[in-house]
Amino acid sequence: MSGPIRDSDNDMSAGDTVTGNVEVRESRVATVGNLGVVRALPTKGRRTVGAWCLVDVMQPSDALEPDPMEIGPHPHIGLSTVTWLLEGEALHSDSLGTEQPLRPGQLNLMTSGRGIAHAELGTSPGVLGIQMWIAQPEETRHGDPAFEHHGDLPRKDLATGEAIVMVGSLGDATSPARTDTRLIGAELSLAKGEVTIQAEATFEYALIPVEGLLKVNESIVEPGYMGLIPTGTDELRIEAGDSGARAMLIGGEPLGEQVAMWWNFVARTKDELTSAWRDWDSGDTDRFPEFASILDRIEAPRPMWVSADD
Ligand code: MN
Repeated sequence: MSGPIRDSDNDMSAGDTVTGNVEVRESRVATVGNLGVVRALPTKGRRTVGAWCLVDVMQPSDALEPDPMEIGPHPHIGLSTVTWLLEGEALHSDSLGTEQPLRPGQLNLMTSGRGIAHAELGTSPGVLGIQMWIAQPEETRHGDPAFEHHGDLPRKDLATGEAIVMVGSLGDATSPARTDTRLIGAELSLAKGEVTIQAEATFEYALIPVEGLLKVNESIVEPGYMGLIPTGTDELRIEAGDSGARAMLIGGEPLGEQVAMWWNFVARTKDELTSAWRDWDSGDTDRFPEFASILDRIEAPRPMWVSADD
């Protein structure tokens, strides 16, 4: 049994287990706009994997005719959003004036720097996907906002399937997408059997199954759970069962900075979070310019540490 990845990782929940060097942590249910999601990261005692700081897996609706995905204009600071669809189509619009359709296998990467606002609208029924955030390092988090779309990402053949590399490199397959820190993000589509993926020893990793269960090294990881692998690993042994599996593999060099997260903001201090809340709440269009959207703007809740008379 390996030691904890960091001190706070002793803080585990009842559904969590450790086998070999893999910690398996249970995700929790959350709501984003009108969407039900399963939040793999952050989790209790664990805020980041590399610089990845949020992973939400959209859940299929129980409704016969589900509402389309509607996430109205809302702000971000200090992070890049990675929007990745598994099914359906969506339209991204933002305060840089971007309007970008997105389909499965394509990447929308929006980097907020000091401030951006955006909206996501499902343009087909049954949109399913994953929303991920990457915390920006100190060097870039106060910089200009930016947006990239990548419609043709590199694919890497694996013994039992294929990886689409969203960001970073997997072996000789390197994504053209911007990175502010050393990291990897890939979708794995695997048939039955075991594959060994070369790992970077300076990276920590997480494997998040979205369809089918997987074995990672000696640990079973089901959808609704995340398998965490610490730094110092040079290969990942990943095995899918009879029906195959689809999973997100994320990782990177540990961020080495303690992030403060609240609502849609990633910063380092509460004062920075409060200032971003005030700027959105007061409609500061220098920081968060207005843009056209058919959706209603999402109001920020008041941070619990800010009193109503402030
Ligand atoms: Mn967003």
